[in-house]
Amino acid sequence: MSIYRPLSAVAAALALLSGCASQAPADPETPKNIIFMIGDGMGPAFTTGYRYYLAGEAGSEVTPTVFDQLLVGMAATYPDDNTWVTDSAASATALAAGVKSYNGAIGVDGQKLPVEGILAKARKQGWSTGVVATSQVNHATPAGFVAHVASRKMYDAIAEQYVQQRIADNTMLDLILGGGQRYFSRDPGGLAEQMAEQGYQQIWSMEDLSQLNQLPAMGLVADVAMPHAIDSDQPERLVAMTDKALSLMSSQDQGFFLLVEGSQIDWCGHANDIACAMAEMHDFAGAVERAKAFVDANPDTLLVITADHSTGGLTLGANRVYEWKPEVIAQVHASVVPLTQSLLAAPVTELSARWSEKVDFALTDTELAALQKAYGEGDSQLGRAVLKVINDRSFTGWTTGGHTAVDVPVMAYGAGAEAFIGYQDNIEIPQRMMSLMGW
Ligand SMILES: [Zn+2]
Repeated sequence: MSIYRPLSAVAAALALLSGCASQAPADPETPKNIIFMIGDGMGPAFTTGYRYYLAGEAGSEVTPTVFDQLLVGMAATYPDDNTWVTDSAASATALAAGVKSYNGAIGVDGQKLPVEGILAKARKQGWSTGVVATSQVNHATPAGFVAHVASRKMYDAIAEQYVQQRIADNTMLDLILGGGQRYFSRDPGGLAEQMAEQGYQQIWSMEDLSQLNQLPAMGLVADVAMPHAIDSDQPERLVAMTDKALSLMSSQDQGFFLLVEGSQIDWCGHANDIACAMAEMHDFAGAVERAKAFVDANPDTLLVITADHSTGGLTLGANRVYEWKPEVIAQVHASVVPLTQSLLAAPVTELSARWSEKVDFALTDTELAALQKAYGEGDSQLGRAVLKVINDRSFTGWTTGGHTAVDVPVMAYGAGAEAFIGYQDNIEIPQRMMSLMGW
C-alpha cells in the first residue's frame, strides 16, 4: 500500500477544516504579523553555551544574549509515539498544528490524516506566508508547517506540495528561501518552471539575494543544504535571509506569517561538533536580533522563538573537571568534516601544520599522537579523534549522536508575548498563537 496521500485528498481534508475560520477581534494583543523562529536542536545547553561563548574566558563579563533577553518559558517536546524523544518531523507538526504525532510525521496526525497548521490558517485570512531555512527548504521543520505526508523522507512529494497545494485558490507560500535546488527541478515542466509561471521571482545563489524585490519570491541557494556557518564564506547567511524576508513580507498591507529555522544547530549537535554548533547559534542569534528589531519598529508583531528538541545531550563541563572553555572553541575555524579531510589530504608528518591552518591552538604531543594513530584508521576514526581533542580541551560533554527529551526554551516578544510565559507543552505554542488570533 502506498503511504503517499494524493494532493486531492489533502485538499479535500483542508477544505473540510476550513469551516472554522473566524475574524480576529481588534485587540491590542492580537498580532498583525507572526514571526516564528525555530532553532533546530537548540536545547537549553546551547543557549547557555552561546552566552559564555560570547563572554569568552571564565571571569569575563557576562552579558545577556538576545535569547536571555526574550526568554519567557520552557516547552516539553515529547511526540505521540512510544518514546519521550521526538524527531524534528513530529515536533514540527506539533509546533505548526498543535497536534502531537509520531516521529517522522509531516503535517499529519497519528492516523496519517492531514492536520491544518497555523501557516495555512494565516493563509486563509489572506496573510502573506514564508519559510526561511539553512537546510533544504523541504526538510522536516519547514515541511511540517506546509506539507502533509506520512514520512519526512518524502522530499519530492513535500516539494510538490509547496508548489501545487492551494488554499482558497491561493498558493501556500509567498516566500521560500533556503537550500534544496535538487527538489525543485528547473527542467521544462519541473517545479521551478511551474513556480515561475505562478509569478515567483527566482534566484539560485546568495549573491543574487538583493535581486528579490517583490513577492511571491523563491531563493534556492544551495543544491541541498547550505554550508555550515563555520565553513561558509557568508557565516551570517540566516541573518541575510531573515532581513530579506522581513523587508519583502512587511512591504505588503496584509499581515504575514514567517517561519525562520536555524536548521543546522541540530546537525552540528548530531556530529557532537561544538565549534560548528556555536557558529550556527551565532547566525541564529543574529537573525533573532533582526526579528526583535523588526518588532521594536512594528510592535503589533508577535515574535516567538523556540527549539523543536535538544540534540547531542550537550553539556558544559565534562570529565569531572569544573570547567568549560569556550575560548578554546572560538579558536576552531572549521567543522569536523572539512578539518578531517584537510588532515587526510596531507602526509601524516604534516598533521600539525595542517591542523594549524584551521585551528588557532597547537596540538600537544599526546593529542598529535592520538591523531596520528587515527590517521591510519580512516576518516571516521580521524574525525572522532579530532572532535575528542576539541571536546576534551573545552570540557564539552555529549551523551548521544541523536536527540534528547529535555525541555527547550521559549522566547516571546511583542504583541501577545505574555501568552507564552511559563511551562507549556509544545503543542500549546501554536494553540496559543491561534487563540490570540481568534482562529
Ligand atoms: Zn536532528
